[in-house]
Amino acid sequence: MDYKSRQSDRRDSTVVALAYQPIIRGYFAVAAAYYAIMTLSHLWLLDGTSLAFMASVSSITFLAALAACYKARTEVPAVRLEILTSMINLMVLANVLVALHIKFSQVKLDYFVMMAMIFAFASVSLRQALASITVALVALFAAAAAYDPANQLTYSFVGFAAAMSAVAITYFLRRAIGVAITARQEADYAREYAESRLAKAVALSETMRLQSMSDSLTDLPNRRGFFARLAEGKREAAEHRPVWLILLDLDGFKAVNDNYGHIMGDELLKRVASRLRDHCRNGAYASRIGGDEFSIIYFADAEQSSIDEWCRQLLDSLAEVYLIEDRLIQVSGSIGCHRISPDEPDARLMQKADFALIHAKKSGKNRVVLFEGKHAEKAAEHFKIERALRAADFAKEIELVFQPQYDLKRQEFVRAEALARWNSPAIGKVGPKRFIKIAEETGFIANITTTVLRKAIAVLEDWDDPIPLSINLSANDLNSNQTIDELMDCLRASDIAAGLIEFEITESAMMSDAGRATANLQRLVDLGHSIALDDFGTGYSNFNYLRTLPIDKLKVDRSFLENQADPMTERILRSLVGMAKTLNVLCLLEGVESELDLIIAKRAGAQLVQGFLFGMPVSAERLQSLRDTSMVLGRTG
Ligand code: C2E
Ligand code: CA
Ligand code: CA
Repeated sequence: MDYKSRQSDRRDSTVVALAYQPIIRGYFAVAAAYYAIMTLSHLWLLDGTSLAFMASVSSITFLAALAACYKARTEVPAVRLEILTSMINLMVLANVLVALHIKFSQVKLDYFVMMAMIFAFASVSLRQALASITVALVALFAAAAAYDPANQLTYSFVGFAAAMSAVAITYFLRRAIGVAITARQEADYAREYAESRLAKAVALSETMRLQSMSDSLTDLPNRRGFFARLAEGKREAAEHRPVWLILLDLDGFKAVNDNYGHIMGDELLKRVASRLRDHCRNGAYASRIGGDEFSIIYFADAEQSSIDEWCRQLLDSLAEVYLIEDRLIQVSGSIGCHRISPDEPDARLMQKADFALIHAKKSGKNRVVLFEGKHAEKAAEHFKIERALRAADFAKEIELVFQPQYDLKRQEFVRAEALARWNSPAIGKVGPKRFIKIAEETGFIANITTTVLRKAIAVLEDWDDPIPLSINLSANDLNSNQTIDELMDCLRASDIAAGLIEFEITESAMMSDAGRATANLQRLVDLGHSIALDDFGTGYSNFNYLRTLPIDKLKVDRSFLENQADPMTERILRSLVGMAKTLNVLCLLEGVESELDLIIAKRAGAQLVQGFLFGMPVSAERLQSLRDTSMVLGRTG
């Protein structure tokens, strides 16, 4: 109800009763006092029947006025006040009539005039005022007619004056009180209105606060909500209670988004959030702090399971299959935890839990890692390399080494793999195992790949009898049309025959956006380049996509040579080689280090080998001279 409409229905009877209550009570109190005194004076001055009559009516009036005064102390309905006053008025009238009847005196007629005035004051409603004034004055005329007819006319004038005064009193008093009531009610309504507006504003701001703290997709608290909880966690930790900060990141969520679309991805996040909420029922608070990143504040309890076990159970529940729109989807999660200490800044706490999470991801995902000092060291190394990459001049700092690939049948080098070496002025020599991944994460890999290709082209142009080379492409390269454009520009700008450059790709490069990666690969194939599938056997090996990919060679990963004592090793190798044959592509076995490795490679049927036995990665010049001695090595092998 708004302010204007509240104004129109003002002055209800309760408010009127409330305004008249003090006047009415005053009237009752004065009447009680007056009739108490009158009862005493009757006892003192009268005797016989007069005493009996007068004392009875006055004492009854006294008691009634006292009771009415008591009754009217609380808020009473206007009608009840009207009844009470009418009753007392009649008793007052009765007192005068009895007194007149016992002994007439002219002065006693004046009481009727006074009564009219008093009734005019002490009435709750207009009808009551007019009625009681009328009764008082009619009684005056009746009494005058009965006891003093000679002065009837005089009393008519007195009665008329009394009537006028009483009506005037009634009118002005009611108006004054009416104005006061209206003013008060308006003030009340204005206050109520302001209060209701304020309450609405407060409610709205609370809703907005909650909304700003929660994530609209999953309804979990968001980053902001999380930091509020973290502050709470720190306060608890200050009381020596074990409180943990847990960071959870889904493994392979991007693939779900890419393969099934964002709507499915969103649905999956909702389902994950719901399982998370179920697991966090007592003593743990989950929030969503990023795309597929969640965080939990876990208030550990002595009776509850250990943090490790608790997190493991969470991962188990998240890893159960999700049925979304008739599809079965499975994701796992990785967890990094750090016990909250109250005096560490938020950023530091988050960083430590994050280091543990990075470690969990790096060491195979779907696991729980508690933060340890060494994670920080690894992370520090990561940041050091990242900083150096930012400052690097790759054309100057990247050098190539080449590792030969040997054809077992032709017994000669047929190709060499170009491998990057980075000599950073800031941090010294850094191997590719240390920097390639970080370069991929930070986006520098595109620069590195083009630098490597340019340098490889320069080497090929320099050689009279060029040795074919292979170049490693990372997943990022294959998924970036722009990088492929740049590489193709380099290739077209040179006069090098396409057959001299092969590209090595990995299965994982094809996974994230298979459509785009295949299209980009096809562009290179269309230029006449061959493609090798690197690290074969370590990835997903989806035979279906192997069939459709334009590849010429499988490079079987070195890990298959590691377990030579196991009779399965050779069988597996043989079946991998068999698969290459079925697909009608070449098979190269990587990491051939010893004579025994070579025998196994030959028995398995590999056509090509690469490894320390046939040569370490060397400079371009060394590679040229190595080519000649290889003939000798190959014959002995
Ligand atoms: P990869 O492509 O599998 O390259 C082969 C790696 O195995 C090379 O290590 C090589 O030195 C090593 N290797 C060769 N023969 C043997 C052997 O008999 N035994 C053992 N244990 N290892 C052997 P490297 O040069 O340290 O490179 C490591 C990885 O870094 C490469 O693995 C490749 O994934 C990546 N990488 C190197 N250069 C580049 C590059 O220019 N671009 C990209 N994207 N990645 C590169
Ligand atoms: Ca390679
Ligand atoms: Ca490899």
